[in-house]
Amino acid sequence: MNSERVRVCNEKPIDANKPYVLYWMQAYRRFDANHAFSHAVQLAKELKKELIVYEGLRMDYPWNSERIHQFILEGMFENQTRADELGIQYWPFVETSENSGKGLLKDICKDAAVVVTDDFPCFIIPKQTSQLAKKIQCQLLSIDGNSIIPLSRFPKQASAARILRLWIHKEIQKDFPNPNVTIWKKEDLMGVKGNSKTNPKIGLPKSISEVIKRIPFQNQVSPVKNVKGGRKEALRFLDEFLKQKLNLYLTKRSEPNRPELTATSGLSPYLHFGWIGLEEIFYAVLKHSTKGKWNPERMSHEKPGDRENFYSPSVACNHFLDELITWRDIGYLFFWKDKPENINLNHLPDWVKANFVKHNNDHKEYLYTLEQFESAKTHDEIWNAAQTELVHTGRMHNYMRMLWGKKVIEWSKSYEEAFQILEHLNNKYAYDGRNPNSYTGILWCFGLFDRPWFPERNVFGNVRFMSSESTKKKFKLNSYLEYIGELSGKSNSLFP
Ligand SMILES: Cc1cc2nc3c(=O)[nH]c(=O)nc-3n(C[C@H](O)[C@H](O)[C@H](O)COP(=O)(O)OP(=O)(O)OC[C@H]3O[C@@H](n4cnc5c(N)ncnc54)[C@H](O)[C@@H]3O)c2cc1C
Repeated sequence: MNSERVRVCNEKPIDANKPYVLYWMQAYRRFDANHAFSHAVQLAKELKKELIVYEGLRMDYPWNSERIHQFILEGMFENQTRADELGIQYWPFVETSENSGKGLLKDICKDAAVVVTDDFPCFIIPKQTSQLAKKIQCQLLSIDGNSIIPLSRFPKQASAARILRLWIHKEIQKDFPNPNVTIWKKEDLMGVKGNSKTNPKIGLPKSISEVIKRIPFQNQVSPVKNVKGGRKEALRFLDEFLKQKLNLYLTKRSEPNRPELTATSGLSPYLHFGWIGLEEIFYAVLKHSTKGKWNPERMSHEKPGDRENFYSPSVACNHFLDELITWRDIGYLFFWKDKPENINLNHLPDWVKANFVKHNNDHKEYLYTLEQFESAKTHDEIWNAAQTELVHTGRMHNYMRMLWGKKVIEWSKSYEEAFQILEHLNNKYAYDGRNPNSYTGILWCFGLFDRPWFPERNVFGNVRFMSSESTKKKFKLNSYLEYIGELSGKSNSLFP
């Protein structure tokens, strides 16, 4: 394991007298192509210990809902099947009554020589990790499997995508990531199989519906029909993208349309829950775009920082990889460097803050409350369509997401209230919400990672402005609006 990915979370020893190494699967919810799982296997082999994998699902996480719960549980059932195939000890726990999970993980850690977990930098995970690190007697290591380049390689947060792009291209040239992602075979894991006694609370319920019925969710958000969590579905999305959409990524990606006609991958929910690895997507895309003939020599070594031409001779492929690596990583790096617990507008650059002081009291033609936004009752048909898509499908097209965020800034009482509304709606409804890119995506609407734009505008000042009128001119929206009409026609109310 590359030590650049390993963070020691407490000053406690590895206890060689204990029977197992524990992998606490928190964010990257898969066995294959997973840096943290690989590290745990390696440690178990070195220490000659059994390996236990613990995956928990608590009831009370912020923005909990039937939608998110069902999605995660589908992945857990698949993990059980994969663990059985590999013959490893997988200990899932699903909390169904208040506090029934309290102290469970700490108890399981009592028999661990060392605990390994995921160094995901956002939401409840950093706090859960630091709390466990204090409570247990053995060493806790968290592994950065967030991207193809270990985030510790970057000197600081990047203030713009062009800066991070250059750093990434230079790092990749120095040391190309190993293209052989680990897809495990039973034989590879023979040495770490064990028979430690499980806690009686461990085990999956008989069915997902049985769990869902028992939990008093704080948010009433229904699962979306035909949307399924888990690794198999992630790999299916990747395959479909390669075969049908990658070639169109350059020309059609930004055009809002019904999902089957949108040239994007749809992978963000699967990346968020860790059912597919960055390296898997990265190599699959490079291989596909060069008909299997790609190798690191095919990178454009003279042009680090060149978005169009760097990775492969295919411009569409380069654009996709730039979103997957530069734009995704800029959000992960933003969180990973400081792990801020509370994200708010103080994280914006000084030029934006000065701008907002100047325009704080500007006149606003429309003002809406959270309830009006949530039920898609604004004067603007395009904005309402985007919000309806989010509520009904748990997704929103990237271009619409940018417009959606900008308009909430324009139509809210204050900048702070706009941020809170966007955070709430995005994290409540989106399958990919509660992610570093949720926050950096929202803050981008406020000017993060962007530059000043001219002329200076009402409310926005020099922050980039977007309008529904120009969106209508830029794209043919008929098919998208028809799709949204079909979605809302299926239900009498936006609220399930
Ligand atoms: C207001 C707002 C909120 C957002 N909230 C989220 C969120 O909650 N979760 C989330 O993952 N992304 C968020 N984004 C970023 C972006 O909209 C989504 O990542 C993208 O739409 C996902 O669709 P896809 O998987 O089909 O992307 P594709 O175009 O197929 O791209 C592949 C992958 O690259 C990454 N990516 C693509 N575009 C961006 C981008 N602009 N910024 C960062 N990463 C990107 C994603 O991981 C994505 O899955 C937000 C953007 C905005 C403006």
